[in-house]
Amino acid sequence: MKIILLGAPGAGKGTVAKLLSEYDGSVQISTGDILRAAVKEGNELGKEAKAYMDRGDLVPDSLIMKIMEARLQESDCKRGFIMDGFPRTIPQAEALKELLERLSITLDMVVNLEVPREVILDRLTTRRTCSNPSCQEIYNIKSKPPTPEGTCKKCGSPVIQRDDETEEAILNRLETYNAMTAPLIGFYEKEGLLKSFKSLDSKATVEAIKQSLSA
Ligand code: ADP
Ligand code: ZN
Repeated sequence: MKIILLGAPGAGKGTVAKLLSEYDGSVQISTGDILRAAVKEGNELGKEAKAYMDRGDLVPDSLIMKIMEARLQESDCKRGFIMDGFPRTIPQAEALKELLERLSITLDMVVNLEVPREVILDRLTTRRTCSNPSCQEIYNIKSKPPTPEGTCKKCGSPVIQRDDETEEAILNRLETYNAMTAPLIGFYEKEGLLKSFKSLDSKATVEAIKQSLSA
């Protein structure tokens, strides 16, 4: 499948993307994960991105497009991809459209995950993430706690609260989403690619997406 996942921070894009990629081997492309790995590694990209990310601001479009142009040409994308966290602005969506045309890639669908704001806020403030960049398992102190020692059940690394998961950064991320990313819903509706799913349960949402893809 070749799809884009849209949805507010905390809507469950990462979880849905992971389940979809396990289903048919399409690769999950998360710009957030790529950027966090770069920050951890301390390379040029990471140095440039870190301050924006810690505040909950968007990283400049030009930087993101450089990353994605290279990423989409890697061979693992041939089987399909699930984009999670990209595009995030109208200029990114326009640049992506041009890039896909140039690479002769056609999208199957743009999935919009709809989750009520109260649910989103509750999820984000209770979310914790495995600090191991190659694992990044997501936990929730209420519904899916790590081990009593605060380590990851999958890989044993410490489970942490991300720098952008402070209350201030969370509110900023939600505001940024409404201002910059929500307009993409209209953009993809016009393109005839948009499909919205009310999503509280990721597994049920994945089933609905699969059905919709095969219809
Ligand atoms: P969330 O969706 O939970 O906010 P992500 O993991 O998708 O988190 O992204 C984390 C941060 O990385 C964002 O707050 C932003 O600073 C940066 N980022 C990720 N993807 C993009 C993008 N497509 N454009 C600009 N900034 C991005
Ligand atoms: Zn882990």
